Amino acid sequence: MNYDVIIIGAGPGGIFSAYEIAHKQPELKVAVFEAGHALNQRGCPIDGDKIKTCINCKTCSIMSGFGGAGAFSDGKYNITNDFGGTLYEYIGKTRALELMRYVDEINVKYGGAGTKLYSTAGTSFKKVCIEHDLHLLDASVRHLGTDVNYVVLNNLYLDLKDKVDFFFDTPVKSIKVNNVGYEIVCKEGVFNCKKCIVSVGRSGSSWTEQICKELEIPTKSNRVDIGVRVELPAEVFSHITDELYESKIVYCTKKYNDKVRTFCMNPKGAVVNENTNGIITVNGHSYEDPSKQTNNTNFALLVSKTFSEPFKDSNGYGEAIARLSNMLGGGVIVQRFGDLIRGRRSTPDRIQNSFITPTLQATPGDLSLVLPKRILDGIIEMIYALDKIAPGTANDDTLLYGVEVKFYTMQVEVDGNLQTKYNGLYIIGDGSGVTHSLSQASASGVYVAQDIIKNLK
Ligand SMILES: Cc1cc2nc3c(=O)[nH]c(=O)nc-3n(C[C@H](O)[C@H](O)[C@H](O)COP(=O)(O)OP(=O)(O)OC[C@H]3O[C@@H](n4cnc5c(N)ncnc54)[C@H](O)[C@@H]3O)c2cc1C
Repeated sequence: MNYDVIIIGAGPGGIFSAYEIAHKQPELKVAVFEAGHALNQRGCPIDGDKIKTCINCKTCSIMSGFGGAGAFSDGKYNITNDFGGTLYEYIGKTRALELMRYVDEINVKYGGAGTKLYSTAGTSFKKVCIEHDLHLLDASVRHLGTDVNYVVLNNLYLDLKDKVDFFFDTPVKSIKVNNVGYEIVCKEGVFNCKKCIVSVGRSGSSWTEQICKELEIPTKSNRVDIGVRVELPAEVFSHITDELYESKIVYCTKKYNDKVRTFCMNPKGAVVNENTNGIITVNGHSYEDPSKQTNNTNFALLVSKTFSEPFKDSNGYGEAIARLSNMLGGGVIVQRFGDLIRGRRSTPDRIQNSFITPTLQATPGDLSLVLPKRILDGIIEMIYALDKIAPGTANDDTLLYGVEVKFYTMQVEVDGNLQTKYNGLYIIGDGSGVTHSLSQASASGVYVAQDIIKNLK
């Protein structure tokens, strides 16, 4: 089968590439290959009743399938160059913001109308943060919520399904270069294309590494972020989340000069398991629909670790720590802050008797047996710093789930068109190491689609 363009991965990067080409150059023949299921087939078997923890499905429905890792996410589209990736380093700050706004318009058009766009512009909260040596990063954020995010994805799929050939449950095995373009090899056969967009996200990071090795595309390993997910009564952060929804706050620890930051804030949300290559870590999401909201707010506290010579495997380091928590807890461990600072484990009784009801069933335990001292010290210092702007953060009952790890794909060498050294082979989204967010992954998809349209005209 011959195509003009083959897109590998149907996450936000791949979807927005497909959308742009299908709408701007409909005569181009496009196929999307996706390792996971179609959107309506996706579902995590954990029901909290019969299946309580991750059973390591062949393809993880949280991470894979139409919508990618973002499908059951909180759908927070942060329009900013301050975090969520370094797309601006390749395409410029103005263009990156333009494309993120363009993506936002499409999301609004396909079901997101009525959702709120929050902004840090002009907030007095920035001053309050600085007074306590905490630093609020600038952003606008469209909060779709897990429910509306699903509606938008479904509408995009309905729009695209007759314009683009989708191959679900079809992981691509390899990419071969020939004199007219690329051969995409999967168990169904070999498919040819002139241009190929690889947008396989974090779940496809090992595969991208393999492809880069085979095609001798240079890569470099970078950082890993390690930390915990904090869960507390929604009232503690309500003065912040009501105004800004999501706040990215950075703190530099006095003890080690390490940066600790808040990440992925979910007001009235739920803590969830995440499965990356069989390792269970923690994440969070929340719903726009008030009937699905909880009494708790959750967010991650992360410490970035970048290694220097001779150690290169930053993801391996993060995996080893996550494995340790899985070994001790059989999955994610939960601990009350009060137990952590008293140097004792949390027990089912202590969790049961606390004033917060956990939204994730995790194993009560001791995070100090899992997290390296330097990282744990940074997290504890940050919790006390946050307590000054959101009193109650450092309460004994505040729950810490561990571990949360943000694995970053190695940084693939791409040029200003997000193209590898091979003409017409693009690597985009989180799988390229360039982006780490819905907005920037989607924007990178539009960007390369526009480049392809220009070249194939
Ligand atoms: C629980 C959760 C909540 C999140 N919440 C937010 C949020 O609120 N805001 C935010 O900005 N970001 C959030 N993120 C991160 C966000 O989802 C990602 O940044 C974004 O999805 C990256 O898009 P992508 O297209 O690059 O990759 P992905 O979304 O990971 O999509 C890649 C797709 O490629 C497929 N694939 C992998 N390998 C192959 C192969 N060999 N062949 C074919 N297909 C393959 C995968 O199955 C996957 O569907 C969240 C992530 C998770 C897991």
